[in-house]
Amino acid sequence: KLVVLGSVNADHVLSVPRFPKPGETLVGSGYHIAYGGKGANQAVAAGRTGADIAFIACVGSDDIGARMREQFAADGIDTQAVMAIEGTTTGVAMIWVSADGENCIGISAGANAELTPARLQPHLPLIADADVLLMQLESPLSTVEAAAQTARIAGTKVILNPAPAQALPESLLRLVDVITPNETEAQALTGVVVDTEQDAQKAADVLHTYGISTVLITLGARGVWVSEQGKGELIPGFRVQALDTTAAGDTFNGALVTAELEGLPLRQAIRFAHAAAAISVTRSGAQPSIPVRSEVDAFLAA
Ligand code: ADP
Repeated sequence: KLVVLGSVNADHVLSVPRFPKPGETLVGSGYHIAYGGKGANQAVAAGRTGADIAFIACVGSDDIGARMREQFAADGIDTQAVMAIEGTTTGVAMIWVSADGENCIGISAGANAELTPARLQPHLPLIADADVLLMQLESPLSTVEAAAQTARIAGTKVILNPAPAQALPESLLRLVDVITPNETEAQALTGVVVDTEQDAQKAADVLHTYGISTVLITLGARGVWVSEQGKGELIPGFRVQALDTTAAGDTFNGALVTAELEGLPLRQAIRFAHAAAAISVTRSGAQPSIPVRSEVDAFLAA
């Protein structure tokens, strides 16, 4: 069984010809709301690919929070620990996408900031009973650390996707079994600028010093650098026509855990996760782009 702890955001997306200047109003197009948030994306990726998964998160006491909660259940997620917090709004990301594909994002944490250690407390048994706990960094750090502590004591494996990029206290890193940064996040954690494979191993070596046994540095289209006990190798991804890489990393993380829980060895689990993530980059949006199991199986069989 898997527990994901993390954020829920409604992404409000507007395409603009270019970014407006201060004081300027521009006419945009293609406005839509897509369900996102790193925690929710990873939970959905795990749910759609078939994991037995519960999600610990906070949404607001608003309509969109209620609708997202329903969608989580439809995606195969146990939502008993998805809390609707009275008087708050569901997390929001306001995203402008310019014609040349750049984006500009403002985030309101909203209910995500309410996932405090006190609110986590009643759900700690879920973590203690799970095989794997998967987290990111869009939730209060004190809560992430409290969850990791419970997991460590109970023998639940802790997988941390350290996104968005930031430095982390050693007290948290010491509780992590598997870490999955991208290049930017690896640099924020270790100070090593990750460009070449040698750099990736250097960053991994720093992370191993905290007792993290498995380091997976995702390298976008290149794949992932995997290091265990100071020995690393590149597991290449799949070649696809990328349309929108939003949630690629999230899909990778969620699908990776599904495969691990099914008992696949690490390299095969990574291959499964690469396939799911590759499908997601051929589609636009966060959760709308995440494939279901039959799609991943068909992709791998092709
Ligand atoms: P993040 O989205 O967190 O920045 P990455 O960009 O490193 O993470 O991508 C995570 C994973 O998504 C990669 O390891 C790979 O499996 C897949 N992926 C990302 N970009 C592409 C791409 N252009 N083509 C194929 N797979 C991709």
